[in-house]
Amino acid sequence: MSINTPTDRATATGFEPAAVPAVRALVDAVPAVHLPDSDGYRRLTVTSNITHAVRPLAVVEATSADDVSTTLRLAAAFGVPVAVAGTGHGATESMSGAVLVHTAALDELEVHADERWARIGAGVRWAAVLEACAPHGLAGLCGSSPDVGVVGFLTGGGLGPVARTHGLSSDTVRAFDVVTGDGVQRRATATENPDLFWGLRGGKGSLGIVTAVEIDLIDQPTLYGGAIWFDGVDATAVLRTWSVWTDLLPDEGTTSVAVMRLPDLELFPEPLRGRTTIALRFAWTGDPGVGEEMIRAMRSVATPLIDAVGVMPYAALAQIHSDPDDPMPLHEQSLLLDEFGPDTADALVELVGPEARTAQVMVEVRQLGGRVRRGPDCAFAHRTAAYQVFTIGLMIPEIAQTVVADSNRVVDGLRPWSRAGGLPNFTDTAGPAWAERVFTAPVAARLGELSRSYDPAGVLLAARGVRS
Ligand SMILES: Cc1cc2nc3c(=O)[nH]c(=O)nc-3n(C[C@H](O)[C@H](O)[C@H](O)COP(=O)(O)OP(=O)(O)OC[C@H]3O[C@@H](n4cnc5c(N)ncnc54)[C@H](O)[C@@H]3O)c2cc1C
Repeated sequence: MSINTPTDRATATGFEPAAVPAVRALVDAVPAVHLPDSDGYRRLTVTSNITHAVRPLAVVEATSADDVSTTLRLAAAFGVPVAVAGTGHGATESMSGAVLVHTAALDELEVHADERWARIGAGVRWAAVLEACAPHGLAGLCGSSPDVGVVGFLTGGGLGPVARTHGLSSDTVRAFDVVTGDGVQRRATATENPDLFWGLRGGKGSLGIVTAVEIDLIDQPTLYGGAIWFDGVDATAVLRTWSVWTDLLPDEGTTSVAVMRLPDLELFPEPLRGRTTIALRFAWTGDPGVGEEMIRAMRSVATPLIDAVGVMPYAALAQIHSDPDDPMPLHEQSLLLDEFGPDTADALVELVGPEARTAQVMVEVRQLGGRVRRGPDCAFAHRTAAYQVFTIGLMIPEIAQTVVADSNRVVDGLRPWSRAGGLPNFTDTAGPAWAERVFTAPVAARLGELSRSYDPAGVLLAARGVRS
């Protein structure tokens, strides 16, 4: 708990005078309120992309759904917006002038192995769920990095390394406990507040602050999967073969490729540093022998620099993408594609292959499809996209402008195969621009209506996009 007197905090730097009464009222009403320059504030405003620093008026470290209700009601009364975070991995805006509700302390985690479901507090990360489920041979449908928060991931749909077999992760949600913008604690399931249930799967934090979620667990103790790294000189052969191979891949297989230019630093494996490489990621949920047959065509395209595909515990699936979890300054951009054929592969090699002048550290193409297409109707609006491209550049001050311009060059170069839209978890903007990309017009309109009904004062910062 942060122990500052209201007076101390009201005079702390970074304070906006007009909001002082709101923050004073919060301090009186909620146990843990952290103000700028306090240790608690610094701890809870860390973001994994350090170009997205968050500077809220105050951070409420919620210890119960009641704390969340009180915060939302008081904020509405004072006309102060409220944002939410559980880890800071998905921060996209500064939250300036808003109060941040941080859910890290909502850390309940129950695994009901016999009935194959789990109840998970909003502050829990996937790593904890994987660890708790593994002894039962069960798993939660997480993303490429188990360091990510369960609720932040699920409210954005959630596209994981086995998505083509098991579907979008939000399709496994049974129930949300949520405090809607009006401060009321509600339960959302397929039969209880079904409109809210629809909107929380894909609508991120636009309708409420989730305090706990209940999900189905999957019966997947092991996988045949991992990554194979090829030298950049083999880029054309690898990417062209991948473009044809993905067309034939059954739903038991989920795959992506990433053209990487890792800096020449010791923290990266020697064969991968300071050069262009291609990482082929693969996860096969069926019989491992069949998985091995399936990947043979890719394995034999060229001599790998590293071949790390084999049978692995599901709980080790972070090895498939090897995402870095440390805070870094990043520029990210994404694009949805309708197809990725040999001509797209050639374009990608021309844009970021070994001969290209590029400032991107990674350009990844994930294949979607399979069961991702077939889930229930919800606010996740782009199930039918065939591929997603995701670019990452390091925003080192000397090259920051080049990184941004280069990312635009790459995305523009792939536009002939693209379609409108973006996935909520991968679209690096906020407000109306974000909503316009990640929702279709009917989805945005329905979310806007729900927001006006569940959050009449418009207190939730994340609802701005769908209400505008
Ligand atoms: C290394 C890395 C790998 C990733 N891999 C994948 C991947 O494979 N697939 C994928 O789909 N995404 C992936 N993502 C994106 C990730 O799912 C999103 O950034 C997600 O928003 C992170 O959630 P969080 O709670 O960890 O982050 P936070 O910054 O805490 O939250 C981000 C947003 O999630 C929403 N949110 C968080 N908590 C709540 C709550 N309690 N109630 C309502 N809304 C809430 C809010 O809109 C909030 O702004 C990855 C991100 C990283 C950093």
